[in-house]
Amino acid sequence: MLGLARSGIAAACLGDRLGWEVALCDDKPVQGHGAPASAERIGPSRALERLAEFDLVVPSPGVPASHPLLVKASSCGVSVVSEIELAASLLSTTLVAVTGTNGKSTTVTLVGAMLAAAGRRVFTGGNLGNPLSNAVGGDYEFAVAEVSSFQLEWVKTFHPHVGAMLNLSADHLDRHGDIDNYLATKLRLFSNMGGGDFAVLARGEPWTHSAAAGTRAAVSTFGLTPLPTGAAGITVDVAARRLVGDGGFVAALPRSWPRFPHDYENVAAAAQIVRLLGIAPAAVEKALASFSPLRHRLALVAESGGVSYWNDSKATNVGATLSSLRAFERDVIVLCGGVSKGCDFAPLAREAARIKLVVAYGEAAPEIQAALGNTVAVACEPGLRAALVRAVGQAGAGDTVLLAPACASFDEFRDYVDRGENFERWVADVIGMQVVEVRG
Ligand code: ADP
Repeated sequence: MLGLARSGIAAACLGDRLGWEVALCDDKPVQGHGAPASAERIGPSRALERLAEFDLVVPSPGVPASHPLLVKASSCGVSVVSEIELAASLLSTTLVAVTGTNGKSTTVTLVGAMLAAAGRRVFTGGNLGNPLSNAVGGDYEFAVAEVSSFQLEWVKTFHPHVGAMLNLSADHLDRHGDIDNYLATKLRLFSNMGGGDFAVLARGEPWTHSAAAGTRAAVSTFGLTPLPTGAAGITVDVAARRLVGDGGFVAALPRSWPRFPHDYENVAAAAQIVRLLGIAPAAVEKALASFSPLRHRLALVAESGGVSYWNDSKATNVGATLSSLRAFERDVIVLCGGVSKGCDFAPLAREAARIKLVVAYGEAAPEIQAALGNTVAVACEPGLRAALVRAVGQAGAGDTVLLAPACASFDEFRDYVDRGENFERWVADVIGMQVVEVRG
């Protein structure tokens, strides 16, 4: 196992359960809590020397293909497979896999909830928390996996029964080089699927056609636009608050959620996936009625003095920030910043009419200012708390203060959860301080 984060540990435990000899390797001196006690610890330079002894290298998603061990493994014929491929090859349950730039976790969670509402035994995980290896040997009818582009870098035979691609926008280009490479990696999800499998694709996207052309699976689409006559798929009738699919499938949406375009899309994708698995509208409706949106995904944090504060800390790329901005008509003060992932911030200017001010913060602040400064008002601050204080100072009644960073968080925070939790705490602090100041 190369890389001792969650999926590396899970793969090590799976190998151990299968009676394999497992060696654990990481560039950093990490603990690797939960790894099998019998597994050998080995440093990267020693692993390079002993590479020929191994049959298989399983890299963590965080390990780039340029890592010396992977380069050498490829050149000297040692197999490299990702943890999802290893796990999927040993699963006896029906596998569903969801990829895309944004909305994967939400969609996987929705699919899990819909299957559970139908009384089916379901595992949800993959890139979302619980590695797929942990599903192997479990008493499940379905395994629903979130699959990232990093996990698809090392697959050769991976073939879910239902595979879905939600959307594509520039992300992780520091790793994939360009958007074409990024797309090609994502589309590996479909390349080994066969005639009895199902590919669920977003309708009308620039990549939809090539994704459909590159798979032998039966293709259906989801979206907010009407379903073309005779086509397989599902649409959302937003006005009537219902999902309408081919073959007479109709499910009502609850009144309170979903409410933003990207949420409708995720719900439609999830409903289409479970329809293909034979789930009835009643289970879809039951799951939606009790669904709690995941934390740190466009959640209202507070309202004070006519200003609303929203936490979308999980908006870690420009595409997610755009969908976040589109949830509001106008007067948004958006907090963007952290660590840039090598993508262009200029597309954010498409939503200039909704933006009152961009407060750029952290490492990426100068890059954001350079990309947007000619189109929208941009202020720069060193960190998120200072950015929030600036936003609160500029906000008037009717405005929205939105954390939608379009960046990774690692310059200031452990991860997006840490960033979102701090933001929520600081909102309470800063609004609280203001109230005290006003009273004084
Ligand atoms: P992922 O697991 O792909 O990161 P999440 O469900 O965690 O997806 O959502 C991440 C962020 O992406 C959300 O906070 C929201 O800003 C945005 N988002 C969610 N769904 C979509 C979608 N279908 N299209 C565009 N953006 C989305």
